[in-house]
Amino acid sequence: MPTAWLSLGANIGDPRAQLAEAVQRIDQNPDITVVSQSSVLTTKPWGKTDQPDFANMAIAVETTLDPIDLLDGLLGIELAMGRVRKEVWGPRLIDIDIIAYERVQLKTDRLTLPHPHAHERDFVTDPLSEIAPEVTEWVIATAARP
Ligand code: ATP
Ligand code: CA
Ligand code: CA
Repeated sequence: MPTAWLSLGANIGDPRAQLAEAVQRIDQNPDITVVSQSSVLTTKPWGKTDQPDFANMAIAVETTLDPIDLLDGLLGIELAMGRVRKEVWGPRLIDIDIIAYERVQLKTDRLTLPHPHAHERDFVTDPLSEIAPEVTEWVIATAARP
């Protein structure tokens, strides 16, 4: 079954509780199984600095879904948890990004794989390295390629 690596972040409400709830909701999806989890790190906001610190973690999932259906499932969980999209990189109740899906490279309107900013974000690469150092290396190496 394909494996995907996800990055979760939150910085309003109770960030750690929301990460835990998101992991539970992801695992409850009949087509997705959570197979490993990093620790939860407290990190400084990226891109837009005048907002609370984030809680971030990475998880690995096995899924029968293709990348777009996985994205739709994850966006559905964000919505169900009450996420409202306002400003890019602004405060959020929950953000669930697909960092990598197997070794797929993809660039469409809706989905870029690996995630286009993952390689330059410590809050992604630090937790991801805990559970999948080889995937982290691949994400960084892929971004560096012309
Ligand atoms: P960033 O993508 O820079 O981390 P963000 O997570 O704050 O920013 P969102 O508003 O959560 O941005 O997502 C905007 C859109 O990004 C999503 O609706 C989705 O279609 C698209 N997207 C593209 N690639 C990915 C990916 N690898 N994982 C998740 N969403 C992606
Ligand atoms: Ca994000
Ligand atoms: Ca996102």
